[in-house]
Amino acid sequence: MEEVRVRFPPSPTGYLHIGGARTALFNWLFAKQHGGKLILRIEDTDEERSTQASIDGIIEGMQWLGIDWDEGPYFQTEFSQDHIDAANRLLASGQAYKCFCTKEELEQKREAALAQKKSDVGYDGTCRHLSAEEIAEKEAQGIPYVIRFKVPERQGTLFYDDQVLGRIERAYSEFEDFVIVRSNGKPLYLLCNVVDDIRDRITHIIRGQDHMTNTTRQVLLYEALEAPLPSFAHMPLTLDLKKRKISKRSHGEIVAVQFYRDNGFIPWALCNFLCLLGWNPGTEQEYFSREELIQAFDLSRMSRVNSVFNFRPGDAKFFTDPKLIAMNEHYLRSMDLEALGTMVQKELAAADLWDEAYATTQKDWYLHTLGLIRDRFHTLKDFTTAGRAYFAEDYGVDPKPLKKNVLKHPDLKTWLPQLAERYKGLADFSAETTEQLCREFADELEIKPGILINGMRTVLTGQLAGPSMFDIVTTLGQERVVARLSNIDHLYTEA
Ligand code: GLU
Repeated sequence: MEEVRVRFPPSPTGYLHIGGARTALFNWLFAKQHGGKLILRIEDTDEERSTQASIDGIIEGMQWLGIDWDEGPYFQTEFSQDHIDAANRLLASGQAYKCFCTKEELEQKREAALAQKKSDVGYDGTCRHLSAEEIAEKEAQGIPYVIRFKVPERQGTLFYDDQVLGRIERAYSEFEDFVIVRSNGKPLYLLCNVVDDIRDRITHIIRGQDHMTNTTRQVLLYEALEAPLPSFAHMPLTLDLKKRKISKRSHGEIVAVQFYRDNGFIPWALCNFLCLLGWNPGTEQEYFSREELIQAFDLSRMSRVNSVFNFRPGDAKFFTDPKLIAMNEHYLRSMDLEALGTMVQKELAAADLWDEAYATTQKDWYLHTLGLIRDRFHTLKDFTTAGRAYFAEDYGVDPKPLKKNVLKHPDLKTWLPQLAERYKGLADFSAETTEQLCREFADELEIKPGILINGMRTVLTGQLAGPSMFDIVTTLGQERVVARLSNIDHLYTEA
């Protein structure tokens, strides 16, 4: 069987956004599933809008997501000659022609057609039939021209079989002779993209439904360039709650892949979320490992209707799609601790909390601690915020538990240091012994142990909730627990 070759050809005019990443992911899955190749091609022919920062962002974004490519990145601008050659071939074979109509003439004709309520307001083919002499004369006068593709004069419809949508047809009469080279000599996307896909021997083009109007015209170009037609699969679009297409322009950073990298998301959680935007496995399964997804992915299960990226600008809880947050929590909780350790290391380092010992002598402690505290966390950022007390002494105390669990009981000011004294003398500092001692002390004081336990939690971690108290105590260790419980006056004075 012919080798499967797919491509991801972003235009580097902005950051890599959710929609682009999903396209890359689907192409990657398809390539992996078929033992094929993914080609990364940067379509940088729009010189004014393409930027190096965007190229870097796309590459970094894909690397972060783990979407690796087999060839490239190729840069479209490096193949300009191929595009010009193709246009010249089409001219030479009579399948394209030079059009000298000016913008003003075209606009006038369009308006006239609109005024007459004609349904067809496309190009009327004025320059289609110019003689060689007429062309030579206009050229000699230096009149600028574009090159238009000559749509074959055929009855009936053009069609292709879309792998998602089935047969797509368009009547030949609906096409106008479209421009393939601008008056400045620069070939347009429609042509460059086809020429590159032919050169890169692309077998399957998997892209958004917003490209369907391009596809029918490109089918004509494949035929004219005598190249085999690849398979097309058009994916549903991703919309916001107001049914607007997700775009960098209207939605800002929340749709940028970088945002998720910078805000503590796990790359695979984002991939897993993205794959369910517009695709379903046909089962109840929601969480997929990389291998499972490669196995399960199937273009025929792609939805035909658009999917919704459910976020509400300005709403802290819905700052991104809650399903994506839930996926992130799931992976935080269930992923291999070593792998989590590497990700958290970056966060700790960025917050100046990383200690090299966590990778060597204290590695067991480090991984155990992550395993203990990750259950309630939403993102990797939480390890340096809500989890700061495990890695530093300068952690803040949340005002809510401070009020409820500490300030409400002024006697804790003496009780907790007393408990610290007892802990100090404990030879075997374990969850059992520390709990027992705490309960005995509560009995002596004739108070509920909860008063001591909640106070301790707040003082030791700064948080209202968390893992089991005496697991926290042993994880923090005798020295830190004693020091923190002895030194609580500032909590009363600062409050
Ligand atoms: N450069 C185009 C884009 O980013 C490529 C579309 C395609 O052919 O897949 O939309």
